[in-house]
Parts: sequence; structure tokens; C-alpha cells
Amino acid sequence: MGSVGAKEVPVLLSPEGLRIDGRKLDELRSIRIVAGALHQADGSAFVEWGANKVMAAVYGPREVHPRHLQQNNKAIVQCRYNMAAFSVDERKRPGLDRRSQEISKVIAEAFESVIFAEEFPRTSIDVYIEVLQANAGTRCAGIVAASVALADAGIPMVDLLPAVAVGKVSGAIALDLKKEEDNFGEADLPMALVPQSGRLVLLQMEGHMTRDELAKALDLGVSGCRSIYEKMKQALRDRYAGGTEVAA
Ligand code: ADP
Repeated sequence: MGSVGAKEVPVLLSPEGLRIDGRKLDELRSIRIVAGALHQADGSAFVEWGANKVMAAVYGPREVHPRHLQQNNKAIVQCRYNMAAFSVDERKRPGLDRRSQEISKVIAEAFESVIFAEEFPRTSIDVYIEVLQANAGTRCAGIVAASVALADAGIPMVDLLPAVAVGKVSGAIALDLKKEEDNFGEADLPMALVPQSGRLVLLQMEGHMTRDELAKALDLGVSGCRSIYEKMKQALRDRYAGGTEVAA
């Protein structure tokens, strides 16, 4: 999905089946989640996932802006995903481009399906995701951060929403693509899972997979989401057991 340019294609899979960063096909990049990273927001979280660094802040339930979006029977969920101009080494035009608008929309829809919005009529729940450093999988890192931030804000939800991208790299199905794999691989399949029900509330796909590969990718993604889920819950436990907190 990222820009490929005219660069030479790197070797993505070694003869031993190891990836460009030495990971196995079913291995996640390292993930660190800090719940409550910002003091001003109602809820927040910071996620470092491989070389991605993503901050999420949640405000609400609060008054709806713009007013005409207000709904009498439920809260609306508004999301703004943004990649900082300095988040990639290639030049990125600052501001909300079409990609950011699309990602914001699909993330808002994913959260709409898990938040108990009827409990807060005529309000807005505002989710801000800022990507400070990007290395593929930022929409998934954004969902993980926003999900922990929503829980930190005390917004009632069916469940947390772990997310991960699975892809196809040199013909093999691989969990949690990094930048080179996303750019030069054959497919990228980001997903977000409601762990309790096993329901996918976000599923996108770029590239090509056979039906069997897709089934394998979904299985791998679901098990990846389940491990990320444990880390999300641990981040919230750490926060509310008086553990980790970054300075204001
Ligand atoms: P995701 O970050 O969810 O994987 P994409 O597949 O669209 O979303 O992007 C893959 C990666 O490509 C991003 O994480 C980022 O590293 C890079 N990228 C995306 N958009 C841009 C851009 N406008 N300029 C430079 N790099 C970008």
C-alpha cells in the first residue's frame, strides 16, 4: 500500500524462512502500550509497535461539533487519523489526505460497532490518532492505541479492539508486515477483532491472495489479535494498578 518508487526489491524471505528483520512468519514486532499517556485528554494511550509510534487521545462523551451531526438516540463516534509530516522519511504532504480520511472513516465505523453509544444520546465521542513515526500497520497501531484510550476514558464498550495486518511476502503468509514487506509484498490485509465474539469489525485488503491463503491469513491475524489483546489489557492493568505512566 505504501509508495514503492523505483527502488530495488529487497530479499523478503531467507531460505530458512526468516523475514527481513529476522522474524518468523507468525511473529509480531515488539509492542509497548502505555495507557494514560496524556493528562489533558479524557483517555489516552501511546503505542510503540516495531518502528511505529502512535498517540491516541479520546474526548467525550461531549457536545457535538458540528452541531448538525448530533443524534437524538445515541452518541456519534468521530475519528481523526493523521500522519505527522515528519512521520516518514519520504516527503509527505501535511494534513488530511484521502488516505487519512478513509482510514479515519473505517476506524470510526469499527468503534461504532463496539461502543454502547445509546447510553450517551446527543453527544460525540472524539478519537484522535496521531502517527508520529510510521513503518506500516499504522491504522492497526492506531486502533490499538485508540481502543486503550477509549477504555482509559471510561467509555463503555463490548470489548477492546486488537488489530493487526497480515500479508503475503514472497509467496508466504506473514503476520504484522513492516514497511519493506508492505511495499514489496504481494498483499496486505489489516483487520480488527472483537475478541469475545470473534467478529471482525475492520477488514481491508490490498493485493491478491487465493481463497486458501485468505483463510490462512485470517487465522493468523485472529491469533495475532489475541496476543495483542493480552498486551492491551496488561497496559490498562498497569495504569490502574498505579504502574506505568509517562511524565506530563
Ligand atoms: P498502514 O500504515 O495502515 O499500513 P498503508 O498500507 O497505507 O497504511 O501504508 C503503509 C506505510 O507506508 C505507512 O505505515 C507508512 O510507513 C508509509 N506511507 C503511507 N502513506 C505515506 C505517505 N503519504 N508518504 C510516505 N509514506 C507513506
